[in-house]
Amino acid sequence: MRLSRRELLRTTAAVAALAQTGQAQGKEGGRPVAISSANGLRAVELALRRMQEGADPLDAAVAGVNLVEDDPADMTVGYGGVPNEEGVVQFDACVMHGPSGRAGAVAALEGVKNPTKVAKLVMETTDHVLLVGPGARHFATVNGFGNENLLTEKARKVWLFWKQNLSDKDKWLEPEPDRYPPEVKEFIEQFGWDDFRRPQSGGTIHLSAVDTRGDLAGCTSTSGLFFKMPGRVGDSPIIGAGCFTDNEVGSAGGTGRGEANILVSGGHLIVEFMRQGKHPREACLMTLERIARTTREKRLLFANGRPKFDISFYALDKAGRYGSAVMYAFSTIGKRRQFAVADASGARKEDCAFLFERR
Ligand code: ASP
Repeated sequence: MRLSRRELLRTTAAVAALAQTGQAQGKEGGRPVAISSANGLRAVELALRRMQEGADPLDAAVAGVNLVEDDPADMTVGYGGVPNEEGVVQFDACVMHGPSGRAGAVAALEGVKNPTKVAKLVMETTDHVLLVGPGARHFATVNGFGNENLLTEKARKVWLFWKQNLSDKDKWLEPEPDRYPPEVKEFIEQFGWDDFRRPQSGGTIHLSAVDTRGDLAGCTSTSGLFFKMPGRVGDSPIIGAGCFTDNEVGSAGGTGRGEANILVSGGHLIVEFMRQGKHPREACLMTLERIARTTREKRLLFANGRPKFDISFYALDKAGRYGSAVMYAFSTIGKRRQFAVADASGARKEDCAFLFERR
């Protein structure tokens, strides 16, 4: 069932109302500002500090994201990321630099825990925007990046458990519930069993930054959807989807089901809505509404016509106004969705605006 006309009208009205009320999000404190997904609290803090010290906004954004890429505890980005269905960790990442209007990206890159550094080199030292797979790996090698094993023991155990549970028509046996490894129990607590069984979920970091002068940059990095097909590329390295920056307007990016974001060019659409004068939060909500309206495949919709997946957007504009919005207010394990932001009032998390409260 598609979203009914009544539901759509309600959704559109909600977008307008939320945008007007400000939806419980904090005060905007002027430039510089960094905004990111909730896993980027330390990242926005560092990016802000770098910009306050006079760093270029992209250097600041990449430095912040590198912290999360280096952290094995974050299983959705960089070192420690959940592997693909073959047990291989493959990264997607991109950067976009407002002042120069340039961008760089890598997809399905293996063996480098900071794919954003490689993406930045693609931007700075080649005539291209996007390098993928073995080509991206070769480019990293000739630029001095080693080939590291990025599969942590926890990620390996989670992958093996997924493999064992995948089907009752293969030779892998499911472990009894009392024999689940503690790492797997922890993972299920964090991400939920349903998402784990159906590998629709993941995580990612997007970070957008605006410096004191109003120069902008954006950066996105991910290990992609859990247990994705080898070679699958999500939205994160796609300029205009996982990230888009226009130095005259603003910067935006997303996390969540990349396929849905690619189909509406989410990052670009948000920036275009901001160009029309929309507040970043309203621009994010309007883009979510576009996704909800244009998703037509039955397998992706609940019986009430709402999308079965999550998408989160983050945006800021040249003036330093910022906002974030999500498809659903709560995650599948019932956690209120938040984003991270840092400005003159410090680094903090705030609740995201949302298109739908419940599934
Ligand atoms: N957007 C990422 C991808 O599709 C995954 C995520 O953010 O959960 O690869």
